[in-house]
Amino acid sequence: MTTLEEQSFQKEILSLFNYFHNHPEVSWKEYETTQYIRTFLQQFPCRVTTFPDHTGLIAEIGSGSPVIGIRADIDALWQEVDGVYQPVHSCGHDAHMTIVLGTLLRLLNKTVHQGTIRFIFQPAEEKGNGALKLIEKKVADDLDYLFGVHLRPYQELENGKASPAIYHGASGCITGSIHGDDMHGARPHLGVNAIEVGASLVQMLKQIVLNPMTPYSVKLTSFHAGGESFNVIPGSATFSIDLRAQTNEAMEELQLRIDQVFRTLRTLYNVEIKTEMPANLVAAEVNDEAQALLSKAIEEVLGYDRLAEPIVTTGGDDFHYYTVKNPSIKATMLGLGCDLAPGLHHPQMSFNKDAIFTGIDVLVKAVDITLSRSVGKERELSIAK
Ligand SMILES: [Zn+2]
Ligand SMILES: [Zn+2]
Repeated sequence: MTTLEEQSFQKEILSLFNYFHNHPEVSWKEYETTQYIRTFLQQFPCRVTTFPDHTGLIAEIGSGSPVIGIRADIDALWQEVDGVYQPVHSCGHDAHMTIVLGTLLRLLNKTVHQGTIRFIFQPAEEKGNGALKLIEKKVADDLDYLFGVHLRPYQELENGKASPAIYHGASGCITGSIHGDDMHGARPHLGVNAIEVGASLVQMLKQIVLNPMTPYSVKLTSFHAGGESFNVIPGSATFSIDLRAQTNEAMEELQLRIDQVFRTLRTLYNVEIKTEMPANLVAAEVNDEAQALLSKAIEEVLGYDRLAEPIVTTGGDDFHYYTVKNPSIKATMLGLGCDLAPGLHHPQMSFNKDAIFTGIDVLVKAVDITLSRSVGKERELSIAK
């Protein structure tokens, strides 16, 4: 690219970012964002697919295998800013969309090796169910590789550095209710005090012990029982539990142990307890080959000094559903250090925009390396024949 072309590319990228930044839309309501990306892409030779029943879209270039996916999340959060609730791009998804579009533009201008590159603009990451919807629509079925990207807070990753994987933990929440009749304070023997069931629940959750080598946590986060009258023993209550574990195996074990706790409580108190799990996120399943490819790309673009270790974080991302549901996909997420402060999900979050260009360069390089590698592999195979 000439300097002039480079300048207009940079201008175009920043204007994309500014649009997204100034038009945040919450999960499943990313209507204008979807439309904007769709209209923008219509001027280029790529295949665009939208969905009749929900937001988000897919753009594709190239043909044949391997099929490489690059995923951006597109939703914003609903937060109070200066006293007014509004949608805000405080998780950096505006930057992720810009990076993935920039990667597409760069790859359009390159003669690439044989292969398909699918750009996934995924809705509703913050709700934790956007990836599952796209999986249901089969957008990930034939993917060989998948790269995601997320800005990292300054405490986690130094400005200008990049990490070849983000090991998110698994997290979830259980909501439940205890069902019984209220009793007169004078006749406690006629029923079950829901608060006592709750007290036992706290104790029994504390008694769950898993392998301490894997971080995990389970905590009661709300409990509501009783009302205005001090002389009524409440028979009913509602509650919620937050649970997390750094691996999917530990999370599975934790859930089994919590189920056991509820079975014991039902028998112990002879009371009806209903539970459900309205939301959960799986832990990262990072593929070694994908991580190695991304490391190589980071090293070639930024130099070895700026290649950071993989990030381990208690935060979550529904990106990892793609691999949990389709274990053959070789996936990893690029972490970008960008002086992001005060933190992700902070309504005043800001970051160094240079990271957008770093993200584009690294992802373009990662696609390049992945495609040329698989050509190399085919050659090896035909020689072996
Ligand atoms: Zn977020
Ligand atoms: Zn995010």
